[in-house]
Amino acid sequence: MSNISENIKQIKEQIKKFATNVKRPQESVSLLAVSKTKPISQIIEAYEEGQRQFGESYAVEACDKIKQLKAMGYNDIKWHFIGPCQSNKTKLIAEHFDVIQSIDRLKIAERINNQHPQELGTVEIMIQVNISNEAQKSGVSISDTPELIAQITEKCPMLKIIGLMGIAEDTTDTSKITAQFQALQNLKNELSFKYPDITQLSMGMSNDMQEAISAGSTMVRIGTAIFGARDYSKHI
Ligand SMILES: *Cc1c(COP(=O)(O)O)cnc(C)c1O
Repeated sequence: MSNISENIKQIKEQIKKFATNVKRPQESVSLLAVSKTKPISQIIEAYEEGQRQFGESYAVEACDKIKQLKAMGYNDIKWHFIGPCQSNKTKLIAEHFDVIQSIDRLKIAERINNQHPQELGTVEIMIQVNISNEAQKSGVSISDTPELIAQITEKCPMLKIIGLMGIAEDTTDTSKITAQFQALQNLKNELSFKYPDITQLSMGMSNDMQEAISAGSTMVRIGTAIFGARDYSKHI
């Protein structure tokens, strides 16, 4: 058996264990396989293990792979964009992705709203919230999130906001990580009264999956633990 299918099995076991620990059903946490920088052969290996949701961060590379896989008949993959949304890439992103998790400003939301092909219907998005308060990280602040959601809801009829996405600080201090994830969970709980479509909490990566699931994550985004370390040399 290949490493990738073995790794996916292990991650699913871990999801089950971490969910059970906090009395959540295993099915309440879905697995997004983050395949950025990885070749389509590895995506196909994960697909053959039953994986159908994939996350990508680099628009040009991702659209290339999506087009190739569709041409090969892999038409039932749900593609999530999780990278920074640059203005000059919004058209590519709007045309190829099923879910855009990294919306953090109105201008980008409006571009995607206008560029998403009408015949595909609405596109699902999440709002990326900067929960670690690090200046270099993308994401809207927690305090500005309600206003951004109100504006997108008013001005972007093609976008359906289904949840919030956050990246915790890269630290060994698990209490900090937990506090950041809990802040995002609280925000989602508050917003979901007014916006019942906001049900998803995309948080947790290879190194902080347990903390994320304990804090209510509904989708963990796992790259390294499935596909191994990434080679970024092509992306500099
Ligand atoms: C790359 C990436 C991941 C996956 O991280 P791993 O540590 O490799 O699991 C998850 N989320 C986002 C937003 C990413 O850019």
